[in-house]
Amino acid sequence: MAVDLQQRQQHWQQLIDQLRGEWARLPETERDWLRCQSQAIAVLQHQLYALFLAADGPARCQACAGSCCDSGHNHLTLINAVAALQAAALPEADFQRPCPFIGPAGCLLAVDWRPFNCIIFLCEPIEQALPPRQLRHFYQLEGALRDLYLQVEQRYQGGSRQGLLIGGGQHGRALLQRR
Ligand code: SF4
Ligand code: SF4
Repeated sequence: MAVDLQQRQQHWQQLIDQLRGEWARLPETERDWLRCQSQAIAVLQHQLYALFLAADGPARCQACAGSCCDSGHNHLTLINAVAALQAAALPEADFQRPCPFIGPAGCLLAVDWRPFNCIIFLCEPIEQALPPRQLRHFYQLEGALRDLYLQVEQRYQGGSRQGLLIGGGQHGRALLQRR
């Protein structure tokens, strides 16, 4: 494995270990807030995903071999990782893949904790496949979802919507520390 990929893999593992440790020490009030927030996020993400299905998204993505996921290695955010860890369902990240969470049949992450940048992305063919009313609904949902992620970003040091690797998890920073 090339050195920078190896470093990214190690950094990711350190961040996840750190997050597990911080969660174990977190007050129950903060855990409750994070659980509620991740549930609210999951509800909106499923509504967005339903529109993606309505536009025949999976077949289109299969036909183009998931090309927009080719540089997706930085998207998973704090709240996505917290939700996946709580469900004991965070897939192993493999940084040798174009995105560490892409599998043979597409994204390995459940819709509930798929990253914000991924769940709101509509490429042109998919956008054009949605009737105007559904497209408007999609962007309304996106706005509401953005607000929920923003609340996480404003509350926690590691909560950046840019993802744990870019914005959230700088070395030495406590991820679940309140701002
Ligand atoms: S969202 Fe569009 S660009 Fe991305 S994999 Fe699907 S069809 Fe391809
Ligand atoms: S997290 Fe999933 S949807 Fe996002 S870039 Fe990676 S494989 Fe694609």
